[in-house]
Amino acid sequence: MSKDQLSRAARAKKFGVAEGEGIVRCDACPVLCRIRPGRAGACARYANENGQLVRTDPVVLMQRALDEGGKLTPFAGSEWDGAPLDPSRTFVTGVGAGTTYPDYKPAPFIVSAEHDGLDTVTVVTEGIFSYCGVKVKIDTDRHLGPETAPIRVDGEQVGHVTTAEYGSQMLALGGVRHLTGGSKKEGVVTCDTMLALCSKEAVELTVDGGATMTIAAGQPPVINGAREERMRVGCGSATIGMFARQWFGKVDEVVVVDDHITGVLSEHQAGRYLGIHDTGIRVNGRKSTPGRYFQVAEPGTGWGGTNISDPLSILEPFNPKFARAGLTMLMVSTTGEQYGFYRLDENLKPVQEELPESLHVSVERIKENCEPALCTVMFMAGAGGSLRAGVTENPVGLTRSVKEALTSVTCGGAPVYVWPGGGITFMVDVVRVPANAFGYVPTPALVAPIEFTMTYADYAKLGGHIDQIRPLSSLQPDAGPHVVAPHAENPWPIETSR
Ligand code: SF4
Repeated sequence: MSKDQLSRAARAKKFGVAEGEGIVRCDACPVLCRIRPGRAGACARYANENGQLVRTDPVVLMQRALDEGGKLTPFAGSEWDGAPLDPSRTFVTGVGAGTTYPDYKPAPFIVSAEHDGLDTVTVVTEGIFSYCGVKVKIDTDRHLGPETAPIRVDGEQVGHVTTAEYGSQMLALGGVRHLTGGSKKEGVVTCDTMLALCSKEAVELTVDGGATMTIAAGQPPVINGAREERMRVGCGSATIGMFARQWFGKVDEVVVVDDHITGVLSEHQAGRYLGIHDTGIRVNGRKSTPGRYFQVAEPGTGWGGTNISDPLSILEPFNPKFARAGLTMLMVSTTGEQYGFYRLDENLKPVQEELPESLHVSVERIKENCEPALCTVMFMAGAGGSLRAGVTENPVGLTRSVKEALTSVTCGGAPVYVWPGGGITFMVDVVRVPANAFGYVPTPALVAPIEFTMTYADYAKLGGHIDQIRPLSSLQPDAGPHVVAPHAENPWPIETSR
């Protein structure tokens, strides 16, 4: 038997039940697959290897390397080369750790290590999350669909459009109702969609009455076939405030077209402050406060997230009491991608002209201040349920310890945000989690790594499975771990424990 086989077989002793004819029953989730020799279970995470139940992926360790000065630096990931692991710069993640089900069994790995003179314990598992979802932030001005509109994949509803935030649209995908509350196909498609997004793969989504988009974590969104390049610099009003001084003296009027708050320089507080005169401009829409208009058009994929392609369509005739022939006006979108320069003729009608060189800079500056448009995928799950029993005999003790910041929670070594209130509901940015960290089981539910790290004393205090603690070094002969470098932007997981 190879070292790897040996290791996996050794780990498998804790799991699975041998049945006749070499068949093993996997008991790592409620599906309880009966697996024949040489075959894998329904989720492909477990297999029958010579009558032993084995996890098909190695557990992932995270390691920092030492440079010549003894300073910790990122380590280039690789297979473990057999060299002794230095516990002070090695962290065991839940990736590949396996799952214990039901959870009254201790978690697969409860590992002790000394860090900065402190005895620590890290408890890791691959949690099975029926209560989980994905929140997606899409940096775009474009209208993706009405709020609460269903979002579909292969015709199945997998979530809905939620609030529009500053320069972004939010989607809420997954959740227990789509996983378990609809048809079997709805649950499967929802699970597949979440798994693909958490694995940083591209997924095509369709919004009822809205856009079709392709999104992937850390990538620009593609909306109705067009790749989004820029996130808006701000709303129309904020853009007026930011650039008013740069327009002063170069143009008489500026309108920043925005689906939410269209800004008008001459009426805006910024224009008043600079002493800009009335221009007689009249804007369609609901006036909020001076120089700030709501609902100038319908939402869409045109200028500033409206449905318009001709910005003049949001204007009514100029008021002749204040307007004059020759008055100049710049109209620009919140990303600077669309702009037009106009001069009023004898009839006070705007006539388009070339953008003067003196205004090019300000339009370019709007573009320059627009950050790249990206999709952010946050996995959100509740670890407040029975999973806690794998950590402690008194589950509420873990919740309290997390809330008191005595225990840190990480997901594949990545930092998480733990929501206030009951339970341990956390969110993690999937781009900061190692590759292949997420999986699924056909219940359906998502599988995600989770680690709880605390001092030995705190672990004992919360009623931890002290008799199951093993030193990190014990992973070497029997786990065949895969060693990876931490994500460059992640804090070292142990440093987050205090
Ligand atoms: S689906 Fe996977 S984890 Fe669940 S019983 Fe089957 S092999 Fe085991």
